[in-house]
Amino acid sequence: MSNPFQNAMKQLDIAAKILGCPKKIKNLKRPNRILQAQIPVVMDNGQIKKFQAFRVQHNNKRGPYKGGIRFHPNVSLDEVKALSFWMTIKCAVVGIPMGGGKGGVIVQPQKLSGSELERLSRAYIKAFYKYLGPRLDVPAPDVNTNSQIMDWMTDEYNKLTGKKQPAVITGKSIKAGGSLGRDTATADGGFFILEHLIKKLKINPRKTTVAIQGFGNAGAVMAHLLYHAGFKIVAVSDSKTAVVDPTGKGFDFHVIEKIKKNRGRVDICNCQKIHCSCLNHQHLPIQKVLDYPCDILILAALENQITDKNAKNIKAKIILELANGPITPQADKILSAKKVKIIPDVLANAGGVTVSYFEWLQNLKNEKWSKTKVRTKLKQTMAKAFNEVKKNAKKYQTNFRTAAFISALLKICK
Ligand code: NAD
Repeated sequence: MSNPFQNAMKQLDIAAKILGCPKKIKNLKRPNRILQAQIPVVMDNGQIKKFQAFRVQHNNKRGPYKGGIRFHPNVSLDEVKALSFWMTIKCAVVGIPMGGGKGGVIVQPQKLSGSELERLSRAYIKAFYKYLGPRLDVPAPDVNTNSQIMDWMTDEYNKLTGKKQPAVITGKSIKAGGSLGRDTATADGGFFILEHLIKKLKINPRKTTVAIQGFGNAGAVMAHLLYHAGFKIVAVSDSKTAVVDPTGKGFDFHVIEKIKKNRGRVDICNCQKIHCSCLNHQHLPIQKVLDYPCDILILAALENQITDKNAKNIKAKIILELANGPITPQADKILSAKKVKIIPDVLANAGGVTVSYFEWLQNLKNEKWSKTKVRTKLKQTMAKAFNEVKKNAKKYQTNFRTAAFISALLKICK
């Protein structure tokens, strides 16, 4: 498995070399602080189980550390370091005054009961709360964490510090001080960028097929937006299964959504046969969604999905990275040679942290913004960031990823 932090450093080196500032980026090659703990959780059977937890504070030159907390069995220190670094870059790309941080726990949350999950979330805060705070480090949700978990964490932080400080964590429920529009922000931001790009390329959504890897917070909302804009969703996967529509007409988003809600996976029926006749779709191994014939590929699962092993098989002409780090630098080169347009993670999924920043501002100022205000400000932020990236791509004759890194470095190193 390729090391995500080393991959991230390769991306950084490419941009720094073009800018001619390899010395200035020295501070970005090492996180400011790495926190690790074995956090004890009382399980329902009364036994205490310890879980390995991390919080990495990468860089706070532009503002408080900011970044999600991931609950996943494959979390590792190198993964959290990479994710915290990408947060530093991402916040700078969209021009918000925040730095980069990230957290994670090695755990399969689906195996925990609701009360065990709550105790784990609170234990995470007990371990690290002295290093968190509205002006210090502001966590948020990521893979397998959600607004309920953020509410428990905020409540635990408030209890431990004896003060009510909703701005310590974003991605909370609305009743606990969350922002309207935060739940859809990551996909909304990516969709705004895609809209700009297809307009420029004169692409008609109704004649455009899309494959989506990952059907969680980011992927499912994106599927919803694409479906209503007329795109044909011909392939969808989650961690358990993949379904494709060989007719090319595209799935009805609402049917898949319902199945996912009811069964916890995106299968459209129970038969599991290849060439299933129930709803005109086929089941495929989950990784086959990546090279399924389509015009646009949305990556909304995890890192290291397209590597030097499968990059040459990719058929899509445009790839949008809602996930962080889904394409390795070696695969980037192969896709570049194939003239695939990639909208990189540090731009494509920056809508999430942008609306997290809006939530933080609302909490600090004790304000409540309407959904329209949030979406309008998000759209403006994404449009500005994309214009800067396009300008840098032209000026430095490079792809969107390196151009986005250049945008960020110009702001961070100033
Ligand atoms: P989530 O837990 O809600 O969803 C993840 C989805 O990916 C699930 O449907 C899961 O089944 C699927 N998945 C996992 N492994 C897979 C595989 N091998 N093949 C296909 N599907 C697979 O998480 P999310 O919040 O949607 O995050 C997804 C990605 O987007 C992550 O990389 C995350 O860091 C990134 N991201 C999320 C946000 C956000 O606001 N949620 C913001 C920025 C970036």
